[in-house]
Amino acid sequence: MNANFLQTPIDYLKGVGPNRADLLKKELGIHTFQDLLNLFPNRYLDRTQYYKIAQLQQTNAEVQIIGKITHIKTVEQKRGKRLVATFMDETGSMELVWFRGQKWIRENLKLNVPYVIFGKTNYFNGSFSMPHPEMELLEAHEKSIRSAMQPVYPSTEKLANSGITNRVINSLMQQLFLESKNAFAETLSKPLLEQIKLVSKKEALFNIHFPKSQAHLAQAQYRLKFEELFYIQLQLIRKNLIHKSKIKGYTFDKIGDNFNTFFSDHLPFKLTEAQKRVIKEIRNDLGSNAQMNRLLQGDVGSGKTIVALMSMLIAIDNGFQACLMAPTEILSVQHYNGLIEMCNKLNTSIELLTGSTKTSKRKEIHEKLENGALNILIGTHALLEDKVKFKNLGLAIVDEQHRFGVEQRSKLWHKNEYPPHVLVMTATPIPRTLAMSIYGDLDISVIDELPPGRKDIKTVHRFDANRLKVFRFIRDEISKGRQVYIVYPLIQESETMDYKDLMDGYESIVREFPQPKYQVSILHGQMKPADKDYEMNRFVKGETQIMVATTVIEVGVNVPNASVMIIESAERFGLSQLHQLRGRVGRGAEQSYCILMTSHKLSADAKTRLETMVRTSDGFEIAEVDLKLRGPGDMMGTQQSGVLNLRIADIVKDSEILKIARSYAAQTLKGDPNLTSEENIPIKNTYAQLVKYRNIWNYIS
Ligand code: ADP
Ligand code: MG
Repeated sequence: MNANFLQTPIDYLKGVGPNRADLLKKELGIHTFQDLLNLFPNRYLDRTQYYKIAQLQQTNAEVQIIGKITHIKTVEQKRGKRLVATFMDETGSMELVWFRGQKWIRENLKLNVPYVIFGKTNYFNGSFSMPHPEMELLEAHEKSIRSAMQPVYPSTEKLANSGITNRVINSLMQQLFLESKNAFAETLSKPLLEQIKLVSKKEALFNIHFPKSQAHLAQAQYRLKFEELFYIQLQLIRKNLIHKSKIKGYTFDKIGDNFNTFFSDHLPFKLTEAQKRVIKEIRNDLGSNAQMNRLLQGDVGSGKTIVALMSMLIAIDNGFQACLMAPTEILSVQHYNGLIEMCNKLNTSIELLTGSTKTSKRKEIHEKLENGALNILIGTHALLEDKVKFKNLGLAIVDEQHRFGVEQRSKLWHKNEYPPHVLVMTATPIPRTLAMSIYGDLDISVIDELPPGRKDIKTVHRFDANRLKVFRFIRDEISKGRQVYIVYPLIQESETMDYKDLMDGYESIVREFPQPKYQVSILHGQMKPADKDYEMNRFVKGETQIMVATTVIEVGVNVPNASVMIIESAERFGLSQLHQLRGRVGRGAEQSYCILMTSHKLSADAKTRLETMVRTSDGFEIAEVDLKLRGPGDMMGTQQSGVLNLRIADIVKDSEILKIARSYAAQTLKGDPNLTSEENIPIKNTYAQLVKYRNIWNYIS
């Protein structure tokens, strides 16, 4: 079947007039034959059985009955009209009832002609009725493509009210198959079909719409899911390959003084195997002549900072500058201080640029950046300002990437004549299958091992009623010299209320832990940067024992002496946020604790989140639960959920198929990068069609 046929506007299908065409476009986004063909059923009903009215039972199962309408009347009710038809077979009679779309139904129903009706029945006052039955003339029913499994297509109320019932969609589908003579071109290569034992495209399409049996349906679904995921992966991997061949990067082939001196003399600890592996991966990227575009995933506390530093030292050794961008002022300052300390024996110059950097300092930094005197620049979004011009930026590192949009990343990218190498670090573990779909065009490194000697953080769930016990516990810990975080939710929609919660909480803590014995810090987003720094520093230096804060402290903050994390209204936080917050403790040698405080009212999901936190501290396991609870779209934020608008596959449930599809996509491109071989012609054509006609695979750029 040639592709032009499938691109025919839906208006040209027999049975689709201007009205229906309009509705199909607006309600289901169906503009072309192809769109209709790709409208896959949500579920299937078994319609192999016929019932007699006298056999009906009081169940909520859907039943199929053959009979005739003998009478129709409109019944006035307090809450509006309803249309009632008397329906009879040779064993008895029942009522068919409509509340909506009555005009259309009244005009189209035929009296005393055999119909097949299908639906759920209600039982009232000794007789059965069926609201909004699916109906078809027996004559048409017998002529239609026979399928034991009746597909149920996605619909909307508007469609149903306008008479575009499931029946109608079904008959349009039949018309489409009739006109196409079921001559749908194969879209995968022969070797693929054979190796994975997939049914042909023709067979799959037929059986997804008109399945002959469960087994046929299963094969059809598998084939179409595979195909959908295969083409997504093909595009992602292809993008990555093209990127590598087209976008040249600076070649950092020297491992020089800075790196070597640091590695042999100044490493503050022994690197974990995972850190070594990742540094090697980065070194390989930097040494090739392609631009690095790598995502580094590592749970909180897994030690990403040192990896960042050593990568930057490689850039410097090759005569280039590097920058490290963090989402908040606090984090930038912490990175800056940490790096200064680690580099104090090296000959590198490091500066910090944030929103609160003084103008004179700013000027100095701008100059040193442009004349090349500055090696490493650390900071916030301030690095993205137009005035910031590097002499030769060779490596850009972005910490905690989920806080930055794609746009901001590419802004950094375009700072220079040639794009710098890019390393994006994230502490939000993303389940592998999801990462494959969202970041499939990036290379991914994972630090899957924590530095040695970390004690597991003891996590418990406590109800608000036990607050006094919790206070006692805090007092004990403080008396041992520990510090405590108490975190309140701050969720945008109700910011003022949250703010009040935080302040009330702060006051009650100050009452409970009075000065001068106790000092309490407070930190929230509405404070001036200077005040935030002041409070944070007091806590870092150990001058205050308790830090009452909002989630400002979520990301990256490192105070090894803090060993207790109390999360108030923990039921209001998402799993990944809870995990991030917990990661603020357990950074020192002492046993650490995380206490999740909640009220007694908990939703099922909230209970699962709390139980998961108590059970495990493995970020990837937590991310998997999160994915199941929230679904992929929500998890990644709306801007990226387009990727996850799949037609038939489900990223969570079909992760096995996804893995197979990815590996076959990689294998196909490896053997034939431009898909020019004879056997790959179907793939080449399909790929071109997808790119040309529809932005079905609407990825991030
Ligand atoms: P994150 O991945 O969350 O950014 P950091 O880089 O801040 O983690 O490291 C967390 C803590 O672990 C820091 O105090 C750091 O000095 C320490 N650390 C990192 N790597 C190691 C290691 N290999 N051995 C011991 N401690 C380490
Ligand atoms: Mg970090």
